[in-house]
Amino acid sequence: MEDVIIIGGGVCGCSLLYALSRYALRVTLVEKENDVSTGTSKANSGIIHAGYDPEPGTLMAKYNVEGNPLIYALCETLDVVHKKTGSLVVGFNDRDRAVIQGLYERGIANQVPGLRIVEYGELHRMEPHLSKDCVCALYAETGGVVSPWEFASAQAEAAVQGGARVRLDTEVTGIRKEGGNFVLATGRGEMESRFVVNAAGVCSDLVSRMVEPEFFTIHHKRGQYFLMDTASSYLVNSVIFQCPNENGKGVIVGPTAHGNLIAGPDNERVRGDDRTNTAAGMDFVRKMALRSVPDLNFSQSIRNFSGVRADSTLNDFLVGPSERVPGFFNIAGIKSPGLSSSPAIAQDVTRMLGEAGLKLEKNPRFTAGRRVKRFKYMSVEERRKAAAEDPLYGAVICRCETVTEGEIVDAFKRPLPPRSLDAVKRRCGAGMGRCQGGFCGPRVLEIAARELSKIRDVPVRPGGIPLDREGMYIITGETKTPEGKGE
Ligand SMILES: Cc1cc2nc3c(=O)[nH]c(=O)nc-3n(C[C@H](O)[C@H](O)[C@H](O)COP(=O)(O)OP(=O)(O)OC[C@H]3O[C@@H](n4cnc5c(N)ncnc54)[C@H](O)[C@@H]3O)c2cc1C
Repeated sequence: MEDVIIIGGGVCGCSLLYALSRYALRVTLVEKENDVSTGTSKANSGIIHAGYDPEPGTLMAKYNVEGNPLIYALCETLDVVHKKTGSLVVGFNDRDRAVIQGLYERGIANQVPGLRIVEYGELHRMEPHLSKDCVCALYAETGGVVSPWEFASAQAEAAVQGGARVRLDTEVTGIRKEGGNFVLATGRGEMESRFVVNAAGVCSDLVSRMVEPEFFTIHHKRGQYFLMDTASSYLVNSVIFQCPNENGKGVIVGPTAHGNLIAGPDNERVRGDDRTNTAAGMDFVRKMALRSVPDLNFSQSIRNFSGVRADSTLNDFLVGPSERVPGFFNIAGIKSPGLSSSPAIAQDVTRMLGEAGLKLEKNPRFTAGRRVKRFKYMSVEERRKAAAEDPLYGAVICRCETVTEGEIVDAFKRPLPPRSLDAVKRRCGAGMGRCQGGFCGPRVLEIAARELSKIRDVPVRPGGIPLDREGMYIITGETKTPEGKGE
């Protein structure tokens, strides 16, 4: 029997798993997909928000402002790719100036440090490629960017290293109470726990309804993006927002933690977790992005993607114990700034679980930190040393992102080995560059098959590894077998 089961391996679930792994507990995270961070947590702007945007007094404001410094600290501890770039909300006219003044005052009310309004001359010195129509901006020095999927998986890896468990490919389909504990029905049998935390993202309303009558609903709001080649990165230094409106924070043009540039998102109500990219949505993003940065060249776009927001009818995050079902906790309706808020939410829910009777005694196995070798960021001397220690660090597999075979193999040796080609990409960046895996994909597939064969101790064929989800197979058969015959 578990002390705590967390449903959902997004950034909220993984942050809580890491926070709880500090204590000597039996904790399991259950995720329906084949990896952590495959839902909203992998497809967003990756911005560490400063905290001036949410309405004062809301949980969104509280957790965003508390979460901001925690993310930077955790990224250092867990060696997660991030950058403190600062962010700008730019204004084009007097109406925008009034909005910017309002955001500044809201930020002060939320106790956001390092906020100021910058005027034309300074603004264009900070961002030389900004539209000359931008007259002023709100500058937030604590804004930044993080690799969102790595922030989640790094916490899950450290938690597993410290003794916590992650069960992938396991969907929770029902929950019942028996003798004071919860029994969870999953696609892989039943599991029992004293406490359950619902961190199921866009499905958090469905999971809540497994234990209590409906009291909130999730509306799905899709946001679409262009991911641009690193050749465009010179165009912005910080994250550039336009003034927010009834559709949210608006289209941004900003750097990614990996050195690319993104433009997006739009905000469209969709049915379910619909992550399709549409011509109309992408046209809107293009038009709005060009308004901020007219030199953007969309022929440099290397990929489109979209993510779906969990917009709750409660109009704020839902964090804490259920009022009706003792032992059941929600981390639900976590739309933006959920990534930025996640470590603060995790700390608070840990405290609440303690107050509800969970014993929080120090875990002697807790692993606070993690270190990852990244060839791309090494000096020439460091590269020589890495290749001398392990010749696989001398073999560059992904040429766009300069990822070596050593890094791919290391990803399989870490506590949460990848099960798909996309998971390899999320762990070490192979396939993330200009060719999007067109060249390195087959080699990565071979390496993945070899490494998974060692882990599972049965032969795994490249054809058995999906691109992302189960069923998304890249290889349908072999034209030549070792015996020379086609399949
Ligand atoms: C377009 C867009 C842009 C955004 N930009 C930012 C930003 O720049 N900065 C910021 O701070 N925030 C941003 N956000 C918000 C942020 O991405 C989310 O708040 C955060 O990722 C939510 O994490 P989560 O763990 O709650 O949900 P998710 O990441 O969706 O995780 C939930 C998990 O639960 C699993 N699950 C669901 N049902 C079950 C079940 N029955 N059994 C088992 N597993 C289940 C799912 O498979 C999923 O993996 C953005 C969001 C969007 C959509």
